[in-house]
Amino acid sequence: MAEPEVSALRQLPAVATVLATAGASLLLEHHGRIATTNAIRQAVDEARDVLRVSPGKAPDADALAQRAGELLESRTHRLRPVFNLTGTVLHTNLGRAVLAEAAIEAAVDAMRHAVALEYDLTDGVRGERDDHVRELLCELTGAEDATVVNNNAAAVLLCLNTFALGREAMVSRGELIEIGGAFRMPDIMARAGAQMIEVGTTNRTHAADYRDAFNERTGIALKVHTSNYRIQGFTAEVGARELAPMADAAGVPLLNDLGSGSLVDLSRYGLAKEPTVRQAVEEGASLVTFSGDKLLGGPQAGFIVGRRDLIARINRNPLKRTLRVDKMRLAAIEATLNLYREPDRLAERLPTLRFLGRAPSDIQDQAQRLLPVVAASLGHAFVVDVDDCQSQIGSGALPLDTLDSAALRIRPQGSQRALERLAGELRALQRPIIGRVADGALWLDLRCLDVSDEAAFIASLAQLDVESVAAHGS
Ligand SMILES: *Cc1c(COP(=O)(O)O)cnc(C)c1O
Repeated sequence: MAEPEVSALRQLPAVATVLATAGASLLLEHHGRIATTNAIRQAVDEARDVLRVSPGKAPDADALAQRAGELLESRTHRLRPVFNLTGTVLHTNLGRAVLAEAAIEAAVDAMRHAVALEYDLTDGVRGERDDHVRELLCELTGAEDATVVNNNAAAVLLCLNTFALGREAMVSRGELIEIGGAFRMPDIMARAGAQMIEVGTTNRTHAADYRDAFNERTGIALKVHTSNYRIQGFTAEVGARELAPMADAAGVPLLNDLGSGSLVDLSRYGLAKEPTVRQAVEEGASLVTFSGDKLLGGPQAGFIVGRRDLIARINRNPLKRTLRVDKMRLAAIEATLNLYREPDRLAERLPTLRFLGRAPSDIQDQAQRLLPVVAASLGHAFVVDVDDCQSQIGSGALPLDTLDSAALRIRPQGSQRALERLAGELRALQRPIIGRVADGALWLDLRCLDVSDEAAFIASLAQLDVESVAAHGS
């Protein structure tokens, strides 16, 4: 190792020196001695590693204290906001739907105060927690009754367990879905205690296949929305409208698991048509399940709507108690559903629909506006331009439909490694910026960047260390 590097390493402050800085005393107050000392040690180790591979000036004690502060912050605030510029609007790994202001306020209120969660304010007696949203769900879907659980996976599990424990549950081979995050229909059936009866083939299932399979052991029949794939070509499926009378005749419920399930006709907002929950109810399914945080745009939840006698049986299942939702989410659900009563203002109030409905020209304008800022903060190591791209809806909704969008496309002057490192630095920001690497570029799809969030985005970018970013390019 050359002489100057060794001396830079020697100049690296000791942990005790960093601990004595003003910056460190603030950290000590907030995080305590053990955590602060560990973070400083890590900051010093990091600096030593950097000096070994790229010689330069050693950071001083104040800089190391600041770095320790960043490490502590990222550790104590892990679930922190990020900029979702992946182009996937309902990104499961980024928490799916962003909630409407009304829902946020309602949830905060419920957190801060006691609420009449299971208390009937008219008669002063015990009430039902589902009552708050039951009427709204019935109004919006046309169903007789409704109940709410933790998520849609729980909704399906609960229905299967209620009607097919120790009995048969019938499903087409073309609808044996796997949803990301280990929701596989055969596994859910097994855990619900149901025996899965597969009917038809992968590409073709006929009415006769179902008819032949109904027997005295049948507990439930399923229709499952193939959320994240399509079977195309030589295909046949039996719609819920045709299946419903067969299930009725056999005396078992027909469950239609819609997955995303929209409460409004999305073609109103320029999107492809997705069956609405109301249509699924009209088609005759006795139970319909759908998610709260997919197209509906609310918090994580699973809804079951349908026949009153069946919902009553579901509510009597002891598993229901284990899958129930808390007051924060119920408050947010109620506020979100209320927005649907005014469909004309929905797109402006519900972030999910606002993002999905953005005009490509609007996103293009925003990209042009932000281009000089982003280019300046990345320096000469990268070329930034505005390019067309395709956004996805995500969470298995309308899997084949993409939306025309615009992105800031960032390409490295040097090697691909520089791009990976830049993506890493953007992820390491206090409010991380998450894009998508494809075709030798990092794409920042701006569809989900609200104009009101632009200032925060620019402030985040400003925290990038331009010198170290520039060094990547060389
Ligand atoms: C997404 C989905 C589920 C699971 O819903 P969660 O709300 O994520 O639990 C179940 N079935 C279908 C068809 C889905 O699309």
